[in-house]
Amino acid sequence: MYYLSQSPNHVQPVIQPTICISRSPNVSISTSMALILVIACIIFVWITSLFKIFLLARIRSTKHFTLNGKAFRKRNVLLVIAHPDDESMFFAPTINFLTSRGHNVQILCLSNGDADGKGNIRKQELYQACVSLKVPMQQVKIINHPDLQDGFGKVWNHSLLAKIIEEEITSHCIDMIITFDKYGVSGHCNHRDVHYGVCKLLYDTSRGDIEVWELVSTNILRKYSGPNDIWLSMFWAMLPSNGTVQCLVNEHSRRSFIAMAQHKSQWVWFRKLFVILSSYTYMNTLRKIK
Ligand SMILES: [Zn+2]
Repeated sequence: MYYLSQSPNHVQPVIQPTICISRSPNVSISTSMALILVIACIIFVWITSLFKIFLLARIRSTKHFTLNGKAFRKRNVLLVIAHPDDESMFFAPTINFLTSRGHNVQILCLSNGDADGKGNIRKQELYQACVSLKVPMQQVKIINHPDLQDGFGKVWNHSLLAKIIEEEITSHCIDMIITFDKYGVSGHCNHRDVHYGVCKLLYDTSRGDIEVWELVSTNILRKYSGPNDIWLSMFWAMLPSNGTVQCLVNEHSRRSFIAMAQHKSQWVWFRKLFVILSSYTYMNTLRKIK
């Protein structure tokens, strides 16, 4: 073993080698090419998916959830939502599908969205958005109950919800309900309570004459994949293990943007981005729960 020692008086100047890292021009070019290729692929898949949705929207299938194997009959459908803007952000493909086939759509909004003190403004915005979605104002009911206020952490009583929904069913001869599933798309507690309110109504009363469908929540990747989710949604709808499922494409995607833009108090940059990127703008997957 060797030990090297040096007296401080004999310190030799050490010339540090200068390391110069320079990127080869070839590496830089290939990185740029890979990036361009990825962007081109995304654009290609996006356009192909939009084209697929466009084609599907023009095929009038005779097998869809409002017929249930029977001849056409006008359905009285109740869409149950939690806040003004849920209809445009999440359910627009379903509303467009129903109205374009002549079904009667009633919307029951269980709060006026007063979390920021804008309840009265948001009420008017919901009426305007529904007109854009071809649902007349008189078919929209907005509840403003002290126990059903908009907000995270506000627990809504399921029995109260069931009672309000049942009154609406009776007064409009409703034979089909559409609402959130138990996750509520965004996970908002008010959306989830709406689901459980509908379930409470179903299982506590004997309303065997009413069909109930829930909007299926997807994972975050699918949720923000825009029209690209059509391929997975269609595949998912075909799997027998998922029960009775219907994938509806948006026949009027532009109408969804116009409807959401009516919610001026909510129409901030991140919601604009949401509407563009959200798969719920382009399609809805509904699952029959009863
Ligand atoms: Zn909501």
